[in-house]
Amino acid sequence: MALIDSYGRKHDYLRISVTDRCNLRCIYCMGEAGIKLIPHQEILRYEEILQVVEAGAAAGIRKIRLTGGEPLVRKDLATLVEKIAGVKGIEDLAMTTNGVLLSREAHRLKQAGLKRVNISLDSLDRERYKRITRIGELKHVLEGIEAALREGLAPVKINMVLMKGLNHDEVPAFLKLTATRPLHVRFIEYMPIGDHDREYRRHYLPLEYVRETAARAGMPLIPVPSPGGAGPAETFAIPGAQGTVGLIRPISQHFCHSCNRLRLTAEGKLKACLYWQDEHPVRPALGDPAKLQALYQKVLDLKAREHHMSPGRKSGPVNPGAMRTMSKTGG
Ligand code: SAM
Ligand code: SF4
Repeated sequence: MALIDSYGRKHDYLRISVTDRCNLRCIYCMGEAGIKLIPHQEILRYEEILQVVEAGAAAGIRKIRLTGGEPLVRKDLATLVEKIAGVKGIEDLAMTTNGVLLSREAHRLKQAGLKRVNISLDSLDRERYKRITRIGELKHVLEGIEAALREGLAPVKINMVLMKGLNHDEVPAFLKLTATRPLHVRFIEYMPIGDHDREYRRHYLPLEYVRETAARAGMPLIPVPSPGGAGPAETFAIPGAQGTVGLIRPISQHFCHSCNRLRLTAEGKLKACLYWQDEHPVRPALGDPAKLQALYQKVLDLKAREHHMSPGRKSGPVNPGAMRTMSKTGG
């Protein structure tokens, strides 16, 4: 069976937000005071998430990514990992994390069946990292990266959201990270998700900047095959480097035509796109695999052709104030 939308796109990838809670407050993702949290009793339990995964796998889902909020603040995440890893049909199981708690959890997660991690890191400077995340300690993330490498949660990818005036001058340092370690740095364009318009307009920078900077710094980016699970990244490498450089440009070169993703929010809504507000509760279908499978298809039948995010947008068709933040949708 395959999950195909009305534009012929095959969907085999489900991103699951396991919690809306987070131990950081990144400026592009949350307000300083955090977000209005979903009450605990409304968050999907592990057995409920598992039902959604099982029905998805029967319908054609092959890849799962755990995200959030911060997935590692959810108690006993390895238990969920182990259950999902055992679902027939699931071939890839990854996680996106801020890395703060990873050094403590990496071994257990690997044992439970997690294949690989993406670790978010927007600055290699201690003070700056704290400013961007509002509370984070760089040292903890660096320890998390080492733990991921040690445990073989590979390919280990580093997600860096490029922001003019905040971290754009660190592009060469991030490129150099790939030279001597098997790290795959993926630069990501800042997206206008949630009610962050003013910040967005101030800091958005198209990723062409990375290519120009690399060339100026004598580190030409040569196209190479992607490391596993590359998704929408265009992949390059500096000659002789151990790792790769990915460019993810949802704004300047959107990749909606090849989108293969669905999202499950922490409180159990299936969403077809980060941008559009349509969401469909899975709760009424729990306990009935056929109904859950039908829900996947219904979500896809309503999926839009593309998002409408652009640097010059006013509010567009979506009211940004009413949009879910990334932490609520699952980035
Ligand atoms: N807490 C985990 C983390 O930070 O990796 C997982 C959730 S976070 C929402 C997932 C990814 O979304 C992170 O790499 C983060 O940098 C990215 N993200 C959040 N808000 C963004 C925005 N406005 N534009 C681009 N990327 C964003
Ligand atoms: Fe938390 Fe990740 Fe959002 Fe940062 S990007 S506030 S770490 S959910």
